[in-house]
Order: sequence, then C-alpha cells, then structure tokens
Amino acid sequence: MFIAEYIKMLDKSYLFPSDALEKILSLIPNGVTSERLNLHECYGRVTSSDIISPEDLPAFTRSTVDGYAVNSLDTFGAKESSPIYLTIKNEILMGYEANFTLMRGEAASIPTGGMLPPGADAVVMLEDIQLVDKYTIEILKSVAPFENVIQKGEDIKRGEKVLSKGHKLRYQDIGALAGIGIKEIDVYRKVFISIISTGDEIVPVDSPVKIGQIRDINSYTLTGLIRETGSVPINRGIFRDDYNEIKTAILNSLEDSDIILISGGTSAGNKDMTADIINDIGKPGVLFHGVAMKPGKPIIGGVISNKPILGLPGHPAAVIVCFNRFVRPIIEKLMGIVSEKNFLKKVTARLTKSIASSAGREDHIRVYLEKRDNELLATPILGKSGLITTLVKADGIVIIPCDVLGINEGEKVEVMIH
Ligand code: AMP
Ligand code: MG
Repeated sequence: MFIAEYIKMLDKSYLFPSDALEKILSLIPNGVTSERLNLHECYGRVTSSDIISPEDLPAFTRSTVDGYAVNSLDTFGAKESSPIYLTIKNEILMGYEANFTLMRGEAASIPTGGMLPPGADAVVMLEDIQLVDKYTIEILKSVAPFENVIQKGEDIKRGEKVLSKGHKLRYQDIGALAGIGIKEIDVYRKVFISIISTGDEIVPVDSPVKIGQIRDINSYTLTGLIRETGSVPINRGIFRDDYNEIKTAILNSLEDSDIILISGGTSAGNKDMTADIINDIGKPGVLFHGVAMKPGKPIIGGVISNKPILGLPGHPAAVIVCFNRFVRPIIEKLMGIVSEKNFLKKVTARLTKSIASSAGREDHIRVYLEKRDNELLATPILGKSGLITTLVKADGIVIIPCDVLGINEGEKVEVMIH
C-alpha cells in the first residue's frame, strides 16, 4: 500500500517541499549588500566578512582571584601544617601596569583582574595565605603554574579568527568584539519583505465585518514572523482579487523589497490568478505551484530577476507553516547566514496520541507541550488550517517527513518551538 500511495502521489507531480525550496534557493544570492555598522547596532545582524582579532585578549596576564602573585615553584609543597614563607614585595594596583620584576622568594598582593608582574606565574588566593607581619606571608597551599590566572591572549589571540563570515551575531559575540576593541563591523543590510494581502472578502482590522467578509489576519502574523528574523516587513495593504490591482502591487514591491509575499489567491479557483500574474511580470517566474505538504499544499514559489516571490495559501495556519518551511530559509540565505544551528529551537517530547500521515506528503502537526513526571509530552492539536486558534494553543510543530507513514503514541518526536 505504501508504494501504491507513493506512486499516486508522484503522479500528481507535486514536488517534495525540500526540492521545491531548493529551486528557489539555487536562484538567489548568499546575502544582500553589506554595510558598516557601529557595534551597538549589530545585534541580530550577520557578519559579511571574517573577523580577525587585532589584539590579544587579555593584553596582559591577569589574576582571576584576590591574592598574592607568586612564582609557583616557590609554593611547592606548601601545606597548612608546613607553610612556606615569602617576602611581600609590592602591591599591584588595579588598572595599572605591574612595572617591577618579582624575584624568587617574593610575593605581591594582587586584586582580581590585576596584572601579574614578570617573574610571577600564578596567584595564591587570600584564603590560602596568612599575614605574618607587614613584610611576610605564609603560603598555606601550593599553586600550579598558571593557577588562578588568565594568560595573555588566552581568550583571543592577535590574528585569530574570532567570527566567520555568515554568522548571526548574538550578545556574547558582540561582547567579544568589544573586548578586542572592534567598534564597527561589516554586516549584511536588513532584508526588506513586502506583504501583499489579497481577497475580495478580506477587510482591515479596523473595519466592521459584513457577512461574507473576514478580517486580515495574515498581514499581522507575517509581520511578526518577519520581525522575528530581524528583517523589515513592508505592509502594502489589502488588494481585491483583481489581476491589475495585484499586478501593480507586485510591481511596486519589486522596487523596494528583497522578497515578496502574497497572502491568498493560490488555489485553482477562478479568482486565484497569482501564478499567472507572476509569470506575466518576469522571468523565470513560477518555479512550482503546489507541494506535497499539509497544510500549505497550493503554495506558489517563483523568482523574478533574483527576487523570490511566494504565494502563500490564505488559511492562517497554512501561512505560518509555509513561512517557516519556505520563507524563513529564503530570508536566512538573503541575510547571509551560512549555518544556523537550528537545534536551539527544538525540543524532544513524547507523543501522547498517534498521528497518521499519507505517504509522500510532509505533514506539519501542531502540538502543545506539557511537563508531566519530569517528561515533556506533545499532544497533537487537530483542526482545520483555517483555524488560527489551533496555532494559538500550539507550542510548536512536529514535522512528519514525506517517507514516514505516521508516528505512534509514545514515540519521541522533535518539536520545533514557535
Ligand atoms: P485563498 O488562498 O485565497 O484561497 O484563501 C484561503 C482561505 O484563507 C479563505 O478562506 C480566505 O478567506 C482565507 N484568507 C485569505 N487571506 C486571509 C487573510 N489575510 N486573513 C485571514 N484569512 C485569509
Ligand atoms: Mg482568496
């Protein structure tokens, strides 16, 4: 039965989502143009070149504790029962160079972060010394070479690659750049994305709804999804199912956007003319119309002169699933991201109910998560893709790949959190 269903599916000639996505990705650039930005503006941006450290971090060997800088050899064998005596040479001040050399048999008091003087290679913590008088301390515990210190260049070495091109900057990355004195870097500019909402029945959020009409949900969910990636949404408004109106909206969007998203108008109904309009405007035009996926089957994917243009099936849940499956990777490529460690956004949970899936179709199942007896459980939320509340109740999505016929209750699944 599996094979028969599979062939039937292939006969319908819908592409697998991964192949469909690849068609678009192969035609668009890695990263848009770049710009030089102040470090404070760089959070969430993507590096457009490798970043090499101009200096050592730290620039000098520093103590990680409050204590006494010593030559570790001088502390060899020190114990509480048989302490070793050292002469107090000096006091090292925070923020100043230790401009003297520590000789054998000497120690110098040092604060956390203070510079080790030449001749010292370790620090004995305050807890492990005893002051005998103004000039002498007892060492109650030996230290190994480099104990309680960060060596010059131990964090980052001068000339070392700190970050690779195509890296999405997190706060710790920006902190590291500040630490080596880099105040401006080259990053890809933000990606601009037009949202065109279509449908004779769609009315704005501030309009009363007459029978037959429905408020525009998709512009709002898409705006949030786009913002979350760090890109810029451009809401072009709501357009009637009119060839010329929609064509004009797309032409205008091509002027100032990197990606164009059209909500609605993708099914085969006579009002759904998006594919024709895309082909009419430019080349290569529509690359696929319909993929083996649920929800989101009638999605349209196209490219017009290197700009991706997608027709998203209007059902609110389908829009979100299509965004995450298709639009997000497209945005990430244009943002210049080379490798996104997606695993951070996934959790593993045990499925509480079996889910069936047709062969040859990729199913995106909405689930909610709960913790019981220290275990994470995922419960499928069944409901039509026209119901936005199925996603409001959901914590994430379980994807059943094309070649899997369903998942049994009790099995472990990966949940993409959103
Ligand atoms: P379509 O893709 O145009 O065939 O639309 C599929 C379904 O999604 C229809 O029930 C539409 O009314 C609905 N829909 C289309 N656009 C939106 C929107 N912006 N907000 C909410 N529902 C929509
Ligand atoms: Mg429509």
